[in-house]
Amino acid sequence: MNKVNYQLLLDREIVCITGEGRVPSLLMHSCCAPCSSYCLSYLAEYFSITIFYYNPNITSKEEYEKRVEEQRRLIRELPAKYPISFAEGRYQPEKFYEIARGKEGLPEGGERCFACYELRQREAVNYAKEHGYDYVTTTLSVSPHKNADKLNEIGLRLGEEYGIPYLPSDFKKRGGYGKSIELSKKYGLYRQNYCGCEYSKRQREEGMRYNMEEIWDVYDGNGVKTGRTMERGVPVDGDYMLCVHVYLCNPEGLFLMQKRSESKQSHPGEWDVTGGAVLSGESSAQGAIRETREEVGISLSEENLTYIGRVKKRRSFIDIFLARRNFTIEDCRLQREEVQEVKLVPGQEVLRMEQDKRKRERDYVELLRRMLAVSGS
Ligand code: SF4
Repeated sequence: MNKVNYQLLLDREIVCITGEGRVPSLLMHSCCAPCSSYCLSYLAEYFSITIFYYNPNITSKEEYEKRVEEQRRLIRELPAKYPISFAEGRYQPEKFYEIARGKEGLPEGGERCFACYELRQREAVNYAKEHGYDYVTTTLSVSPHKNADKLNEIGLRLGEEYGIPYLPSDFKKRGGYGKSIELSKKYGLYRQNYCGCEYSKRQREEGMRYNMEEIWDVYDGNGVKTGRTMERGVPVDGDYMLCVHVYLCNPEGLFLMQKRSESKQSHPGEWDVTGGAVLSGESSAQGAIRETREEVGISLSEENLTYIGRVKKRRSFIDIFLARRNFTIEDCRLQREEVQEVKLVPGQEVLRMEQDKRKRERDYVELLRRMLAVSGS
């Protein structure tokens, strides 16, 4: 099934509006000033916008008020072709806890979030209808942690239910997320490091603690363990770390490729293979199994793995594995800090993607050819 390109739908709507010489009113639900910065700078060229701040999901009243104040300040300071105004909903945390009941332990990006989107979008759509706006939308799709398909599906459904046009969007397209980071820096906006609710805050703190506690074995230039360890980082001169790359192949001969999260420091938004650093005390096969489970939610056993070979890089060794397992895209559970999207591609496409990017070493490409031959692709 082809994915809907919501950015394209928004483009079409804007072409219609400008063609008719109209400047419609738009109620835009916003989660925070940083996320709204790009959406405002983009859409205030075509719409008369009111930012609607309704976020009962936010952990505490203090945090809520901090975000509201930053939102108001951004509106005051951001230059706009058409005036931007502000409307605030009520802070109703009890409504959030009602929809989150039974979903507290789910990771960010799952069913709790879908219910949270709907709670906030419904309030925005209702407000837009009551106050006679021409369109309603939300800034939420700018975040790589948010599911644009789900947001648009909910928004369009609610738009129909209330009888008001929902403006489709996928603001992270065309570098929207990166631009929101630049604008946040430019206006010195308070940028929180978690989504909003106490569960996302806890998840982020646990993730940070996990990263801080990540210890790797140090290898010498021959790929032998030195007996020393290091904390997550870059090995110093003469030291090496060990990484794994896992080419996950299903019985149809299709391989899983994953798009790096926009929040990654290195190569955000690039298509990549599943993998990462092997932790101290792990074998590379154990690292491959753990990374695959963490990043894409697919469980493997050592029987699924075929070791293909090792490549030496400037500061690391990479062990390459072929993993054969029956799975579909729907089985994948993405770790949103690492992965924003996955797709299945034929073996020759894997080869092309890896050859094209970051000038893969000749040894690596040779091992990939061997891996494809072993897989029968
Ligand atoms: S992680 Fe964000 S979107 Fe998901 S439930 Fe919490 S506040 Fe809502």
